[in-house]
Amino acid sequence: MLKQQTVNKIEFIDLQAQRRALGDSIPQAIQQVLEQGSYILGPEVSKLEENLAIYTGATDVVTCSNGTDALRLLLLAHQVGPGDAVFVPTFTFASTAEVVAQANATPIFVDICPQTYNLDIHSLQQAIETAARNKLQPKGIIAVDLFGLPANYEAIHEIAAVHDLWVIADAAQSFGGAIQGKKVGTLAATTATSFFPSKPLACYGDGGAIFTTDDKMGTLIRSLRNHGCGIHRYDHIHVGLNSRLDTLQAAILIEKLRIFPLERERRKDIAAIYSHRLKGVVQIPTHSPEVTHAWGLYSILCPANTREKLVNDLQAVGIPSNVYYRKPLHLQPAYQHFPRASLKLPNAESISQRVLSLPMHPYLTNEQVEYIAENVRAAL
Ligand SMILES: *Cc1c(COP(=O)(O)O)cnc(C)c1O
Repeated sequence: MLKQQTVNKIEFIDLQAQRRALGDSIPQAIQQVLEQGSYILGPEVSKLEENLAIYTGATDVVTCSNGTDALRLLLLAHQVGPGDAVFVPTFTFASTAEVVAQANATPIFVDICPQTYNLDIHSLQQAIETAARNKLQPKGIIAVDLFGLPANYEAIHEIAAVHDLWVIADAAQSFGGAIQGKKVGTLAATTATSFFPSKPLACYGDGGAIFTTDDKMGTLIRSLRNHGCGIHRYDHIHVGLNSRLDTLQAAILIEKLRIFPLERERRKDIAAIYSHRLKGVVQIPTHSPEVTHAWGLYSILCPANTREKLVNDLQAVGIPSNVYYRKPLHLQPAYQHFPRASLKLPNAESISQRVLSLPMHPYLTNEQVEYIAENVRAAL
């Protein structure tokens, strides 16, 4: 029997609850930008970049228009082009491969590890052989920290060193994560993140940032995001693009970053309740103790052929859920013609049939989390 809903309305991600928690700070920050009138690259943009560098420990942080552009700017910086192969996991949002294809390079799809949903190292090795067979020049790896869990950077860097590849971390879902206390933003030489409204640190529109541990890279990206400008505004030393973060969004992010550490702690507590209640019923997310999960999403694996019933049963008692992702990229019409590590990428193909994300945001009450978990158990 499903318990009748006695809890307040459950949102998958509750941005209104966050707004209430932030009180007047956002309207005040917006008002200040309006009054001061510096809408493009105003002082809030560099203030936010400094604050993000302090929070993550990155050497330099450059904000930009969105997470996809953050990746795109990094590919521009690495001068990726025709004939180049870039290794990407197949189980990710389209952006990760899209930017490679847009640069006229070739994404090569790699399978994921069935426990972490991140790049599988054995499949990555096969993908490097695939590049050679296709007469492509292996250039780099874009590792994705799926659902907020940092990828296996130690193993990825080992392979990258052997084959002379650069590594970009796609941390769109993992801001706030860490490995052995080293924060996301410092786990690879360059990291891209997104401030899209549903990401762990989010603005009220589109936004993104690049983190780097390399001074020169920071300077190059700062030029590229602003039409390749030199020291003077109308000097163009690179072919760049327009990909600046609005001053308004920067002002909003400064306020949201203040409460972010508390929000991250709360996500961790919520994940712990879910995992405690759902262990043995579904496959719960697991990770090694030295890794700090950002809990961008809480994703379970349903037993075979039970997902649809579970989604409907949850919906019937007021619990939203989402599937990230129903189809791995190597099976998508726009991407299926690109090479892959092996004919089948079996882990991604099977996980995409069974994965389900439950509501996850810092403003869920314990009662709501218990209610969701109890209903998952009842449905299965
Ligand atoms: C959201 C996301 C992006 C793109 O971010 P946008 O800001 O929406 O452009 C890239 N990669 C991954 C893994 C994402 O989840």
